[in-house]
Amino acid sequence: MSVSSTPPITAAASPTGDPWLLTPGPLTTSPTVKQAMLHDYGSRDRTFIDINARVRKRLVDIIAGAESHVCVPLQGSGTFVVEAMLGSFVPRDGKLLILVNGAYGHRMAKICTYLRRDHLIQETAEDVPVDFEQLDRTLASDENISHVAAVHCETTSGILNPIENIADIVARHGRSLLIDAMSAFGAIPLSARDVRFDAVVASSNKCLEGSPGMGFCLAERSALEAARGNSPSLCMDLYDQWRSMEINGQWRFTPPTHAILAFDQALNEFEAEGGVEGRGGRYRENCRILVEGMRKLGFKTLLPDELQAPIIITFHMPDDTKFDFNRFYANLSEQGYVIYPGKLTVADSFRVGCIGRLGAEQMHGALAAVARAMAQFD
Ligand SMILES: *Cc1c(COP(=O)(O)O)cnc(C)c1O
Repeated sequence: MSVSSTPPITAAASPTGDPWLLTPGPLTTSPTVKQAMLHDYGSRDRTFIDINARVRKRLVDIIAGAESHVCVPLQGSGTFVVEAMLGSFVPRDGKLLILVNGAYGHRMAKICTYLRRDHLIQETAEDVPVDFEQLDRTLASDENISHVAAVHCETTSGILNPIENIADIVARHGRSLLIDAMSAFGAIPLSARDVRFDAVVASSNKCLEGSPGMGFCLAERSALEAARGNSPSLCMDLYDQWRSMEINGQWRFTPPTHAILAFDQALNEFEAEGGVEGRGGRYRENCRILVEGMRKLGFKTLLPDELQAPIIITFHMPDDTKFDFNRFYANLSEQGYVIYPGKLTVADSFRVGCIGRLGAEQMHGALAAVARAMAQFD
């Protein structure tokens, strides 16, 4: 066997010998989720159609939205469904206010430029939550704003944006809210009964721990009905995707069958763990172990604990001039733990995720690996 194909030698190696992914995605999945993909179904297969319907229903149930919302799944990574949401819900003569405190907010602005949708941004620094008073003033002063877009957990820093307060302000001004909850969905509560929004998007592979390959939009039914004809793109038209699926239960174009089979199993495991409360609880514990352990090793978090979502944690680069991130990263990878570089403008940093099929054992394993990786700079 060649050296490059040798699985990482670590006590905590995953059952497949793959590294543990402490990243914003793709993420570690369970062996049973991977096994669920060992089937080939045709797009018109009854079993597959039933599984697809079941997945859609279960996703709506996560937001307690059976009365109000419908699920429109879409092929592609998470950004595809963000783009589909903006293009489908913001009409050609609409105007979108985007609340930005990181890269994913900026990405929505870039999408609007491509889609030629009128938009403006309200920006705070990456370590500062959305400014409610400014949002209130902007909505009061610009009546052309039809929609507001917000990121629930901004994965750039790991900051949690208080979506309930944002939704209250947007609703009070009679505007529509579109939410990118990609990295929060399934771990941080969001209920359609308490929070008013026209659409929320997330994907199969983040906190729901399915395989990557599809996103989904949970859309308020009447808002989706009103979205007919808005989309500048056939593939990204959520209204059309929804109508077709309602008619025959099938996807418009080749469905990601394996991703859906994996997702169905991932939802079994999500429910067995106790849904949002159980999943969020495991991630909060992961986050606590990681932050405590990293602080003991001398690292500092970017965010104060009260702004930190238990999803991904940003750490400042150590001051030590001998520290070299590329060597640190490579050493951790060799030990079987993949972390992620920072993507921030406010600080030189790196990120360690605590979502995916990871628990206390992997967090302790990662901390021991960090201690060993730091020893090379002594
Ligand atoms: C992961 C993520 C996305 C989507 O990213 P993809 O790489 O396209 O899957 C969008 N928004 C947020 C907040 C995310 O964390």
